[in-house]
Amino acid sequence: KFKLLSFATLPNQVHRKTVKKGFTFTLIVAGESGLGKSTLINSLFLTDLYKDRKVLNAEERISRTVAIIKHTVGIEEKGVKLRLTIIDTPGFGDACQCASSWRHIDDYIDQQFEQYFRDESGLNRRNIQDNRVHCCLYFISPFGHGLRPLDVDCMRALHEKVNIIPVLAKADSLTPAEVCRKKMKIREEIKQFGINIYQFPECDSDEDEDFKTQEQILKNSIPFAVIGSNVQVESKGRKFRGRVYPWGVVEVENPAHSDFLLLRNMLVRTHMQDLKDVTREIHYENYRAQCIQNMTR
Ligand code: GDP
Ligand code: MG
Repeated sequence: KFKLLSFATLPNQVHRKTVKKGFTFTLIVAGESGLGKSTLINSLFLTDLYKDRKVLNAEERISRTVAIIKHTVGIEEKGVKLRLTIIDTPGFGDACQCASSWRHIDDYIDQQFEQYFRDESGLNRRNIQDNRVHCCLYFISPFGHGLRPLDVDCMRALHEKVNIIPVLAKADSLTPAEVCRKKMKIREEIKQFGINIYQFPECDSDEDEDFKTQEQILKNSIPFAVIGSNVQVESKGRKFRGRVYPWGVVEVENPAHSDFLLLRNMLVRTHMQDLKDVTREIHYENYRAQCIQNMTR
């Protein structure tokens, strides 16, 4: 059982240490090509449109992704330094790629475990660089009827080695009622096909009501409906990240338009530590046990 930690609730001493050392976190994206993966991670972490959020070394914008690209970015969130590593992937489903091109992602995750296992078994274990992947944002098309066979295959190939967080891509192409229906359908299918996505930790009974409500909202939001944009829009005297259509403007960070903020807060604030704990205590332990079994065979 995992305890939920947010920066606000960390014991003071731990908090101070963490703030000093900074947090590291690694995230990978997966899903069909063209669903807005590169755009979303850019919106989430890689550009500096806001003054209240310092981006220390954001990298350049991304064009069509043709290989696995590793971005690192330092951000400061409520005074806490985070070093994020974001692995952008080409995605799959392009005519030129075979159906199993998610193997690249599979391999990447394995390689990081392998490296860590080797370092951990070596002589100098003090300064191991930990590149293990803590989270996989899995993009689901808004245009299909729920999950596609490829989605099922891919998620099932990855669910034992990484925390999968499903997102409903390009949510601006759906009405609120459609978003709601699609989310329910996808949640049912995830269950039906036995896909083990990341589970939010169970609340303790002594947790306060606000906290429980927030956790329930998160659970009911799966898959997070997301909208990405790298464009700054100016409208009615306000500047925001958005998408302009002939019939209106979509605001990425407006909770009425998408779950973008919910997802971002969950990733970089409330659930980062739990995602790391599950990676270390479950996914990596499984990998390690298998390695040792293979060695002694
Ligand atoms: P990737 O192949 O998954 O990395 O997708 P990209 O980020 O390269 O985006 C593919 C296309 O979709 C681009 O033309 C984007 O401008 C567009 N796009 C990205 N995010 C969204 C979104 O949230 N809504 C809509 N409608 N289009 C988007
Ligand atoms: Mg891309």
